[in-house]
Amino acid sequence: MNIIILGPPGAGKGTQSSMITDLFDFVQFSTGDILREAVDAKTSIGLKVKDIIAKGDLVADELILEIISQKIANNKNEKGIIFDGFPRTILQADELLKVLSSYEMKLDLVIELAVDENILLSRIETRAAENSGNTRDDDNKDALKKRLSVYHKQTSPLIDYYKKHSNFFSVDGMMEINKVSENIISILNKRLN
Ligand code: AMP
Repeated sequence: MNIIILGPPGAGKGTQSSMITDLFDFVQFSTGDILREAVDAKTSIGLKVKDIIAKGDLVADELILEIISQKIANNKNEKGIIFDGFPRTILQADELLKVLSSYEMKLDLVIELAVDENILLSRIETRAAENSGNTRDDDNKDALKKRLSVYHKQTSPLIDYYKKHSNFFSVDGMMEINKVSENIISILNKRLN
């Protein structure tokens, strides 16, 4: 079962993706985590993307698709894959479907974590303030605002895209973390049965 978790920065995609991964024995591909590891390891990819990430911009589609294609190729026999933070553009979404179908795989579910933008903004500003001197270069107020605006322009069109093309579910991401998890688990269980 292959699943996309969609939502703006700060919506809880990483937390919920890890929860599903642990509970259902799936694998999780977080393009953000993969890129941050490359930055920390100072690989050629890492050096290329460091400043882009710090500013809150998107990394080039081609680079992301190369990483994800490789990941899919290496994990095609897993029980399930959770895509966390990918796709982020329509082009990435189109290409994902092509790569999956080349391995006779499909996209089973797209789950949006729907959040109130104003509450989210104050939440991520608090997070940025609490984390000053933190480990993530892009968790400061300016970068977070930029990431939110990039989400609106480039990623949120995916909601309509998936409403038309896939099994799309929207979950209220403003509830307590455990409640959000419960809702996601029940969507997955219905698909699995
Ligand atoms: P995240 O941890 O998912 O918020 O990602 C952190 C940063 O990594 C983003 O702000 C982008 O700069 C970059 N990034 C992660 N995933 C993607 C993607 N699918 N496409 C383009 N850039 C990405």
